Amino acid sequence: MMWHNKTTQQVEDELGVDPSAGLSPQQVAARLEKYGKNKIEGTKKKSLVAMFFAQMQDALIYVLLAATVITFIIGEYTDSIIILSVVLVNAIIGVVQEYKAEQAIEALQKMANPKTMVRREGANQEIDSEELVPGDVVIIDAGRFIPADLRLIESSNLQIEESALTGESVAANKDASVVIDNEDINIGDRANMAFRSTTATYGRGEGVVIATGMQTEMGKIASILDSADDTETPLQRRLDELGKVLGLMAVGVSVLILVISVFQGRDTFDMFLIAISLAVAAIPEGLAAIVAIVLALGVTRMSKINAIIKKLPAVETLGSVNIICSDKTGTLTQNRMTVVEHFTLMGNKTIPENIIKSEADVELSADEHLMARSFLLCNDASIEGEEETGDPTEIALVAYAQKMGLIKSKAEAQCPRIDEQPFDSERKLMSTLNQMDTAYRVNIKGAMDRVLPLCTHVLDNGKEVAITEAHKVAFIEASTAMGEKALRVLAAAYKNVDEVIDPKEMEKSLVFVGIVGMMDPPREEVKDSIAEAKKAGITAVMITGDHPDTAFAIAKQLDMASERAQAISGSEINQMSEEVFNREVLNYRVFARVSPEHKVRIVKALQSHGNIVSMTGDGVNDAPALKVADIGVAMGITGTDVSKSASDMILADDNFTTIVHAIEEGRNIYKNIKKSVIFLLSCNLGEVITILVAIIFAWPLPLLATQILWINLITDSFPAIALGVDTPDKEVMNDKPRDPTESFFAGGAGFRVMLGGVLIGALALVAFYIGLSEEGYHLGQDNIPESALAHARTMTFLVLAGSQLFYSLALRHESKSIFQLGLFSNPYLIAAVVFGFALQIIIISVPFLADAFKVQPLEMQDWLIVLGLSLIPFVLKEFSKLFIRYEKI
Ligand code: ATP
Repeated sequence: MMWHNKTTQQVEDELGVDPSAGLSPQQVAARLEKYGKNKIEGTKKKSLVAMFFAQMQDALIYVLLAATVITFIIGEYTDSIIILSVVLVNAIIGVVQEYKAEQAIEALQKMANPKTMVRREGANQEIDSEELVPGDVVIIDAGRFIPADLRLIESSNLQIEESALTGESVAANKDASVVIDNEDINIGDRANMAFRSTTATYGRGEGVVIATGMQTEMGKIASILDSADDTETPLQRRLDELGKVLGLMAVGVSVLILVISVFQGRDTFDMFLIAISLAVAAIPEGLAAIVAIVLALGVTRMSKINAIIKKLPAVETLGSVNIICSDKTGTLTQNRMTVVEHFTLMGNKTIPENIIKSEADVELSADEHLMARSFLLCNDASIEGEEETGDPTEIALVAYAQKMGLIKSKAEAQCPRIDEQPFDSERKLMSTLNQMDTAYRVNIKGAMDRVLPLCTHVLDNGKEVAITEAHKVAFIEASTAMGEKALRVLAAAYKNVDEVIDPKEMEKSLVFVGIVGMMDPPREEVKDSIAEAKKAGITAVMITGDHPDTAFAIAKQLDMASERAQAISGSEINQMSEEVFNREVLNYRVFARVSPEHKVRIVKALQSHGNIVSMTGDGVNDAPALKVADIGVAMGITGTDVSKSASDMILADDNFTTIVHAIEEGRNIYKNIKKSVIFLLSCNLGEVITILVAIIFAWPLPLLATQILWINLITDSFPAIALGVDTPDKEVMNDKPRDPTESFFAGGAGFRVMLGGVLIGALALVAFYIGLSEEGYHLGQDNIPESALAHARTMTFLVLAGSQLFYSLALRHESKSIFQLGLFSNPYLIAAVVFGFALQIIIISVPFLADAFKVQPLEMQDWLIVLGLSLIPFVLKEFSKLFIRYEKI
């Protein structure tokens, strides 16, 4: 017998669980031991050794390894050791970078992993889905991922979308009460089961875990599902392209150098090594690795400010966002609702704070009493002592009813729920059918503009009377007045029926009772964030299911909108053609009473003007809008699993302010990557120029192959990474958002690379020239003795590395001087520079290293020359900032 052939009782007995209590911690521990974690084993992770060998699989590395072997065969042992060490150190740095980047991304993925609501030891609790064991009781509601295979034991209008497993995208209706005879029935037809990796789209239910991890249906087919994640960002792709082009150019230059030098009659083998080393130095193979690690470190930092990046490209896109579309409730407001007044035909009443009376104490009119009870029965929240569970709107209503003297558990015991139509943001209604002694009553709550049209009668002082225009006007006026005070309005209605009716018949011919107004104060920090966003060229727009009056009142308090005309409702949008809406869309700051599908229209309309739009969402139906938006933002606390999985970023604190902070981080990360890349390319260019110019003019070689490799190693690694993790610049939020189509080299960056490269190369040659002249030779001369060359090369070696190291300090900011930034405000960079210089000094002063690299100790005067030359690019760059600043003023 399969699980779907068994009754719920059989399932519970077999798995030894009482669903009202769930498993005990001892049972969980024992089963975890027995069945293991609820985890699908994906492809095995690469081991460090595998990563190391992957680093070695590169045409350049092969060439260097060949060079190692050749130098060894011809007896140049020190050269072969140096080349081999460079290869190894390079690979190790690469592995460390890859490992760190991977770990950062993995930690983030863990954070974004869906949690599961289970019942254990009689209490509902959220746990990590990996901790589930067979027998656990899982509580399902709309928007949740199904974390394991379940036999349902309870269901109410439950629908589950099973496309991940069956390919069928229409959600399947589920029913816990059926028992299926057929053992081999298709998975898609097992109506009393729910399967791992599917999602509940509607209704509620409970199920007992019958299989976890690899035992689930999903686990059985997991091996064919290893999806390749698209984690490369547009910038990474562009830099890859650039890397390829530059790589080809570098190879071209190296071949050119080889050809020229052969014609010049230079030593072919030496020149072969030089050409290879130069290719290694010039090919920006570090680009991709550096960008990956900077992105990874950046997203780790962002997770600390509650912005969890799910898709790496989002980091970059964030820097270009110029419109933030935000939900109201919970994101702009605190989502702490309190009913502050109510209105029935008996009049308006202010609800006092904190009065909880017993049922007997309160004098309520029949209308008020009925309204409070309707709100209480048509409600899934609960308050038990200090413990509040459920949706804040509903919690507020339970608290309100308590103040009226009504206790939820008592009311529910008296009038048990027979059926229900759950709340959804499309209908903006919820209704229940409750038993009342011998008859039944439908209780409805929802947005007033949705409830009122469903009513044929109204409760007037305990009597049901036919509803008139005057009644409607009275309610609409009362609701408008509440809306203008930024209160959220909810209406209650009911009808008595003699027998259980079809749920479809519930929301018809109702009796309107009254409305409540609840306050949800704006989050305190949001107003400042909106102002900050404005300064940064970003417009904040509110998109809400709430009423336009309420929405506008809040928007006004937050300085998002100033005039009522800036608010538009979903029904008004419906009346506009796409063309008109697209044209008008920029005039609005508040989109109220919208349904999730409006969100898609709004995003598309905003994008039609070339805007880069971020959109928040939490519900099941928000997924399409989150996907269409340039940055889909899901709510970490209130968001459904569906919205989280469709998003690019999750706000761990549901807070609007976090979006603005994330944008600031995104802009900074991009800037830092840019600095790092400019630095790398300038250095590589400098190295190429040094050699190329010397070859073209038939000068002696200013550097040896091993020297080039070494310089490349110390500058391409640590200083470049340190620039990439430079301290964030607060002032990025004074700039306009970056145009996403803008070239990476826009704003003169390409020119700066050239200038930096030419300068560094020229200075290295100057050092070579000085070195030679000190020994009494000049550049064009033949037969210069090795010792003179070694001296001049030592100077070149030091200046080439030194100027690059100093230059990295100046590249930290385009217009601010190093002193304005704080000399030590990027300690990593200082450490990288100091480390670089220390290594240089060690190589010069330790005799066997000096021999290996064919360098010589220098006199004080030479050190000063080296220092002076090395500082020039740094000084010139810093000096040029004076003018940039001058221009800005
Ligand atoms: P936002 O999109 O900014 O989060 P919201 O939370 O106000 O807005 P919804 O939750 O979709 O949007 O609510 C829309 C409307 O539906 C509310 O204005 C309210 O009138 C009604 N409503 C909200 N919650 C419930 C509920 N639990 N039962 C019945 N009606 C509700």
